[in-house]
Amino acid sequence: MLSLSNTYSGLPGRFFAHVRPTGVAQPRMLKFNHPLAAELGLDPGELDSPGGAAIFSGNNVPEGITPIAMAYAGHQFGGFVPQLGDGRAILLGEVIDRNGIRRDIQLKGAGRTPYSRGGDGRAALGPVLREYLISEAMHALGIPTTRALAAVATGDEVYRETVLPGAVLTRVAASHVRVGTFQFFAARGDVEGLKTLADYVIDRLYPELKGAEAPYLELLRSVARRQASLVAQWMHVGFIHGVMNTDNSSISGETIDFGPCAFMDYYSPTTVFSSIDQNGRYQYQNQPGIAQWNLARLAETLLPIIDENTEAAVEQANQVVVDYAVAFQAAWLAGMRRKIGLNASEEEDGAMIQSLLDLMQRDQVDWTSAFRRLGDSVRGDDTPFWSLFEDGAAADRWLTSWRARLAGEAAVDNRAQMMDRVNPIYIPRNHLVEEALAAAIHDDDLAPFARLHDMLAAPYQDRGPTKSRYGEPAPRDGRVYRTFCGT
Ligand code: AMP
Ligand code: MG
Repeated sequence: MLSLSNTYSGLPGRFFAHVRPTGVAQPRMLKFNHPLAAELGLDPGELDSPGGAAIFSGNNVPEGITPIAMAYAGHQFGGFVPQLGDGRAILLGEVIDRNGIRRDIQLKGAGRTPYSRGGDGRAALGPVLREYLISEAMHALGIPTTRALAAVATGDEVYRETVLPGAVLTRVAASHVRVGTFQFFAARGDVEGLKTLADYVIDRLYPELKGAEAPYLELLRSVARRQASLVAQWMHVGFIHGVMNTDNSSISGETIDFGPCAFMDYYSPTTVFSSIDQNGRYQYQNQPGIAQWNLARLAETLLPIIDENTEAAVEQANQVVVDYAVAFQAAWLAGMRRKIGLNASEEEDGAMIQSLLDLMQRDQVDWTSAFRRLGDSVRGDDTPFWSLFEDGAAADRWLTSWRARLAGEAAVDNRAQMMDRVNPIYIPRNHLVEEALAAAIHDDDLAPFARLHDMLAAPYQDRGPTKSRYGEPAPRDGRVYRTFCGT
């Protein structure tokens, strides 16, 4: 029913632990991702079944599969923890997808592992459905991310602040190697392990670097490029990861770990949703700098294999970390230009974008609506955009300068459609996500979840007035939205 390879378990024993998922009482398939299964070369019809639920809850490990938990370390909120590892994730194995890419298939919440420390190895239904929704929404937005293959209810209870229904999420990633995986070996002075890991990653994720003159420096550079592009895309859609620890920073450049993440409604650069992020370390505007900080941590681990001469290694690695900021800024600006409909690039664009952001911040304008409605202005109707602002005169002045800028460009007849393709109308709004999860948890009703999932599958496509509530922010009632790691 499921046949997997496992190249990671071919690495030395200290990279992982062999584990068996702990059985669950009553596995029940809640949601199975048919298109993803097909992409992975699996049989959706066969797996979206009680037999599939047995596999994706960990109750049945098919013959030939060797599940493991991966070892890693990580900086959590700036403090180093030398030993973390998959405490409630179990890597079943890998498949080669339809595009020839090797992908990990991992169970999240399938029981304790040697890395569980005090944890129960379990996941509650709410966070599992949340990750399913948001990671799939990220994918539909076109942003690199781990995917959700299945959500299975366990029939067991999970004990958090309250008793909650349990579930297991099947997560798919190009690889689960993190910055923290490199830190695990660096912290132990295990240069041999580090080199083995770097070679594995190059072979699997960056094969174009094989045979390069300085492969490990190039590896750092490639990761930096992907991170710059990834975080720029988060910023463009108002995504706040919430827990950008180095163990949640993927070497593949995918968004990983959808714990306390959330999308921002009303624009404020200091927005924080996570209840545990008390100093606002991972607030919206800090994300580009935090990704750079995480890269610097990766760079440190690679020094011994970048150059035997430490000083030379530091100099080369440092340059890559510095270059990241330039790459991020370029990616961010290019994306912001597209969001406001500019095709060419002009010196003053950055300032014009900043002045829009200033107005949006002052009037706490809904991030998603503002950019989407600017498309209406291209179509000749300023009211939708303009009405978002308290200070209509200031918004008008900005529109005037923006129109003057557009007039200086070669005319295009599909500018509004081009903008609609980069400015989503539907994002996982916090109140909609909560509503869908509450129905699932309290009423065993998955219909709101299914409806929201369906809307988020085509985020750029306007579904008309009957669906307008999916495109609107929560009412401005002064409540502060809070997310919890809720693992
Ligand atoms: P996270 O905050 O999800 O990135 O997790 C940080 C670390 O805590 C990782 O090593 C996880 O595997 C571990 N962890 C989180 N929740 C649990 C749990 N319920 N049981 C065991 N380990 C956990
Ligand atoms: Mg994590």
